[in-house]
Amino acid sequence: MNLQTFRAPSMAECLAEVKRVMGPDAVILHTRTVAMKRFLGLRRREIVEITAGRGLNGGPRGTRRALTGGPRMMEIGAQGGVATMPAAPAQIRDVLPPPQINRPSADPPIFPPDSAQMREIMQQVNGLSNMVKELMKDVRSKDTPEVPEELFDEYTTLTNAQVERETAKEIVKTIHRTLRPDHLTQKSFVREKIAEQLEKLLPTSGPIQRMKTNGPHVVALIGPTGVGKTTTIAKLAAKLKLDENRKVGLVTIDTYRIAAVDQLRKYADIIGSPLRVVHTPEELSEAVRSMRDCDFVLIDTAGRSPKDALKLNELRTFLEAAQPEEVHLVLSTTADRGCLDLAIEKFSNVRVDKLIFTKLDEAPHVGMVLTMVKNVGKPLSYVTTGQGVPADIEVAKGRRIAQLILGSEL
Ligand code: GDP
Repeated sequence: MNLQTFRAPSMAECLAEVKRVMGPDAVILHTRTVAMKRFLGLRRREIVEITAGRGLNGGPRGTRRALTGGPRMMEIGAQGGVATMPAAPAQIRDVLPPPQINRPSADPPIFPPDSAQMREIMQQVNGLSNMVKELMKDVRSKDTPEVPEELFDEYTTLTNAQVERETAKEIVKTIHRTLRPDHLTQKSFVREKIAEQLEKLLPTSGPIQRMKTNGPHVVALIGPTGVGKTTTIAKLAAKLKLDENRKVGLVTIDTYRIAAVDQLRKYADIIGSPLRVVHTPEELSEAVRSMRDCDFVLIDTAGRSPKDALKLNELRTFLEAAQPEEVHLVLSTTADRGCLDLAIEKFSNVRVDKLIFTKLDEAPHVGMVLTMVKNVGKPLSYVTTGQGVPADIEVAKGRRIAQLILGSEL
């Protein structure tokens, strides 16, 4: 069978053309209206397209489709111009004068993926998508006129990662001011420069280190329930023991989570560490004293129940009794901004020297780390990247966090 596609501004003109080229016995297989772009893709007009064939026998539709393997049969208007699906393809002589098609098919034609029609559709979709992107860029740059246009994508990457707008703006403005114009177009170079700027905003403390020669270096981890304090203590204790061959004592403040104590006890047994569960500040002070032969004492500060989490003034009293060298506030990167702000507000009133961010493996947006470090004004000590003990913990590095903010994989 010989198939051909015709286009014309109206159905009548299109059918006339089919008839002129293929004769009155041509079979109409498909009609549709097509939107054509005109000037710069902004103005559109509609034209009619007919696919017709010659050399096709009459017969039931399904049989014919099977024979030709071609497009499905046309909807051609019956009386009154309402489009209907005929039992068999219409021949050109049956349909002149042309009927009106006044509504689109409920079941659009299916084109093979590599067909000209599909390519045209994809071209139009891509055109539209680019137009929407340009429009969005336009709207956003009106919203943020200070962001240099050449660096708008980088600005968006930062804000999408939850870096605060002001910070993101400052970073791209600095890059814009300091880079040569020909460097601004080199995306990977610009990205490195942005990572550099982010790194400057991410102070880190390095690992826990014992400076004194006498007595243990005492470290307490504080923070909301469920953020990963106990797991992080197990990781730190195992690292100190396995990597540095240090003697580590563990203390946990009375917790409702028996399982957590059991878990910590298991790790303590494995690494050969003493573990004490204490209930009062006095017991805590005594427990630390009893571990004077340890290089490090790590204190976990759970609460008595999820509702009755260790009250802040109680926590303060415990910390005063323990006299730790360092207090790390543990925060989860999976928490939302409200929870993080609240935790920072609460725990900063007690004592915070350093920050640990957990669950980077589950973090939806790493940019929040930057915001929190900036708001607390304390350096990052560690980040944790999974549930594995002791493997999934890293000493925090500014450049690494910067790369994660910019979308690198863990
Ligand atoms: P705590 O209440 O602050 O002591 O929190 P836990 O140490 O009991 O941890 C709560 C949950 O978070 C546990 O299921 C841990 O396995 C999990 N967890 C801790 N650290 C990480 C981490 O870095 N990544 C992931 N995905 N889960 C973690």
